Amino acid sequence: MGADYSVNANEYIYADNAATTPMSDKAVEEMMRYLTVDYANISQPYSFSRQPKQAVNNARNIIAKCIGAEPREIFFTSCGTESNNWVIKGTGKRNIITSQIEHHAVLNACLSEERNGRRVTYLPASNTGVILSTSLEDVIINNSLVSVMLSNNEIGTIQDIKKLASIAHRYNCLFHTDAVQSVGHIDIDVKDLGVDYLTASAHKFNGPKGIGFLYVKDGVELNPLINGGSQEYNMRAGTENVAAIVAMAVALKENVNNIKFNYSYILGLESKLITNLEIAGINFCRNGDKNHVPGNISLSFPGFTGESILHRLDLLKIFISTGSACNSNTIKVSHVLNAIGLDEKLAISTVRISLGKENTLDQINAISNAIIKITKQ
Ligand code: PLP
Repeated sequence: MGADYSVNANEYIYADNAATTPMSDKAVEEMMRYLTVDYANISQPYSFSRQPKQAVNNARNIIAKCIGAEPREIFFTSCGTESNNWVIKGTGKRNIITSQIEHHAVLNACLSEERNGRRVTYLPASNTGVILSTSLEDVIINNSLVSVMLSNNEIGTIQDIKKLASIAHRYNCLFHTDAVQSVGHIDIDVKDLGVDYLTASAHKFNGPKGIGFLYVKDGVELNPLINGGSQEYNMRAGTENVAAIVAMAVALKENVNNIKFNYSYILGLESKLITNLEIAGINFCRNGDKNHVPGNISLSFPGFTGESILHRLDLLKIFISTGSACNSNTIKVSHVLNAIGLDEKLAISTVRISLGKENTLDQINAISNAIIKITKQ
């Protein structure tokens, strides 16, 4: 008999969906099929490989359709970090222009390229986390790579990617967007955005960890990432992770099919949380922009550290974050909060609550009651 991994979701409140999301039941079911039954290596010519090969093709078609791309423009990778590194390191452009508020998966890839002699310019952000098109126009150099994230993981701010990409193209530049926090949560059409590359990661939209994809516009330059077999059009060798690829497509389709409903549902939860805190009269401020991914709530509580609030909530089995997931083991002020000019004391007093479609109104009331109690003590 197999182990029972079922959990009672009533025993805790998970509100850290920007770090990762729970997997969709349907995606788990499909994943199990390709781990246990249809497990063939899809490069083999025999009939046992036919079904999983078809499933991978199908997954590529579904994912392409979800973002308005062609199937040949979708390349499977192991995660968002890999997709970002592939683009930052793989175009051969001498100049890279990115922003100060990117995820470390972009920033540290840029740092590594700087060490290799490439020139990197970091665009500033406004105090709500917006990258102004004028700041790109001020520094843009012909024939560069421009990389600006679609929405920020710490404060949720959404950028005007369409405008930034059109400026980049006027200067014969290539444009990449890290859409890890956006895919599956807000409408995305790569042709409408006008981007050359787009990064996504399955575990942020109820798919499994360890799988992501990179959209590469047909005909746009990019060096192969891994040499070996002919997988992923000779661009990223390695036996395909069929189960994860299929599960990623199932999860994305599910989210995209319900995107309008989820969007307004999560926005409703978000405004309930804020209203509860306001009615209680506690002292807090919200970071980010009006134009943000629903559910990404960055709040500062003067007089408290974000870390102490996180641990107090943890004791109540309420799980949130102090900043981005990658920062939560350090007490360093987040580079994002720093870049938007938040006072250091406020930055240290910041928590990120990131809601998902699985959260309920009761959970929102429990989270706000707990925060009110903690901050009134
Ligand atoms: N980019 C952004 C904006 C993210 O939020 C994250 C993860 O938090 C990543 C990239 C990295 O994605 P992955 O965990 O799939 O490597």
